[in-house]
Amino acid sequence: MNDAVLANIKASITTIPDYPKAGIMFRDITSLIQNNQAFNQTIDCLVAQFQDQGYTKVLGAEARGFIFGAALAHRLNIGFIPARKPNKLPRETVSQEYQLEYGTDALHIHKDAVSSNDNVLVVDDLIATGGTIIAAINLVRQLGATVTDAAFVVALPDLGGEDKLTALNVKPFSLISFE
Ligand code: AMP
Repeated sequence: MNDAVLANIKASITTIPDYPKAGIMFRDITSLIQNNQAFNQTIDCLVAQFQDQGYTKVLGAEARGFIFGAALAHRLNIGFIPARKPNKLPRETVSQEYQLEYGTDALHIHKDAVSSNDNVLVVDDLIATGGTIIAAINLVRQLGATVTDAAFVVALPDLGGEDKLTALNVKPFSLISFE
């Protein structure tokens, strides 16, 4: 992963101050994915990091985790699991709640999505407090599968999510960060 490539990926992300509310610097990846060079570079970097490591599935968190997770799963030639918000999946699911700033939300996966033979790479576009990806990790572990690594395009290290993953024996990996 060379610095010029990572700088190009970072430059392709748009920052919107005070969205969706005052005080939040929103890191918008839609400008990255509409740029074919930056999108290809992003997926190439993730493939370089995670190929030939024995992963059997990629899980992506709704909704932006689907974009990067599905592209990565395709390139790694393994299956993709969408972790979805409540009432979206049609068959029997397992679920994990997580805290939002106000209230809670939950992620679900189908009960047959993974099994104890699976080694799952969990993916989201961005890690902030870690609540979303920890719910995804717990879903996979609830079904007896293994999670050792989590991948993000963007980390916001000031919000402490990566430290929480380390405490759960999951190694966080991100291409770029915004302090
Ligand atoms: P968290 O659960 O706190 O780690 O938040 C991560 C999730 O919220 C990801 O799915 C992100 O897409 C979204 N998110 C949180 N903070 C931001 C931000 N500053 N800019 C863009 N997306 C964010």
